[in-house]
Order: sequence, then C-alpha cells, then structure tokens
Amino acid sequence: MNRGHGWVHPRDDGMRTRCGGPTICRECMQEKAQKDAEERRNGPTPLAQRFARHAPSIEGQTQMELMRAHVFTLAKQIDQTVPEGREKALALTHLQEALMWANAGISGQYESLPILEVACVYDRPKESSAD
Ligand SMILES: [Zn+2]
Repeated sequence: MNRGHGWVHPRDDGMRTRCGGPTICRECMQEKAQKDAEERRNGPTPLAQRFARHAPSIEGQTQMELMRAHVFTLAKQIDQTVPEGREKALALTHLQEALMWANAGISGQYESLPILEVACVYDRPKESSAD
C-alpha cells in the first residue's frame, strides 16, 4: 500500500518523500517509534535473533572454555601428527569451525545477559581533531 513517507515502511511504489527520513522528519520519527515499539512487543524476528549477539552466562563461558581446551588438545595432536599439507590445513580449519559452532550452541543454551545492540560505527560522533 502506498502510504507514509517510505522511509520507515517501504511503499509499494518504492518512492520516498523528500522529508529526509526519521532523523529530521516528525512524521517519520513517529512512524519509526511505532515500528520500534511494535518490534519490542513482538520480540526479535528469527533473522534478527540469528544475527544478534548472544552473551553466555558465567556457566556458559565456563563450558565454552572447557570446549576450547579440549579442541586445542586435538588441534595440537593434529599439528604434531599430520604432515604439512592440504589435509592438515583442512583438519585444523574444520576443527576451528567445530569449536565455533559448539560455542555458538553453548552460548544460546546458557544465554543470560541481555542482547546488546551495537551502534553502527557511522553513528559515532566524530572526534574533533586539532590539526
Ligand atoms: Zn517523513
């Protein structure tokens, strides 16, 4: 449906008004505030959840460190036993990948800290430099 300024909710016609969007337009600001409130009520989308930061609890961090120690033991065994070459490189790479996925799973299971939103680097105020 073609309504709104097109900055917060994309219009069917793909157009945007020249208002400048939610940072300077009062109507867009209200639209964005409503949308944000709606998203907070509904919780994160599955995609947002998937790409969100999952901070593990202390128990989770302990399990992750334990996992890392076990995997590192295997990595050292591979490093000492397998001759240099593609197979060794692949074995170590996939071991890293296994650790990453294991820790991602642990992180989700023991999640306790709030998911933090990281501000976009472009949103940071510029540091004033005296040239
Ligand atoms: Zn607007």
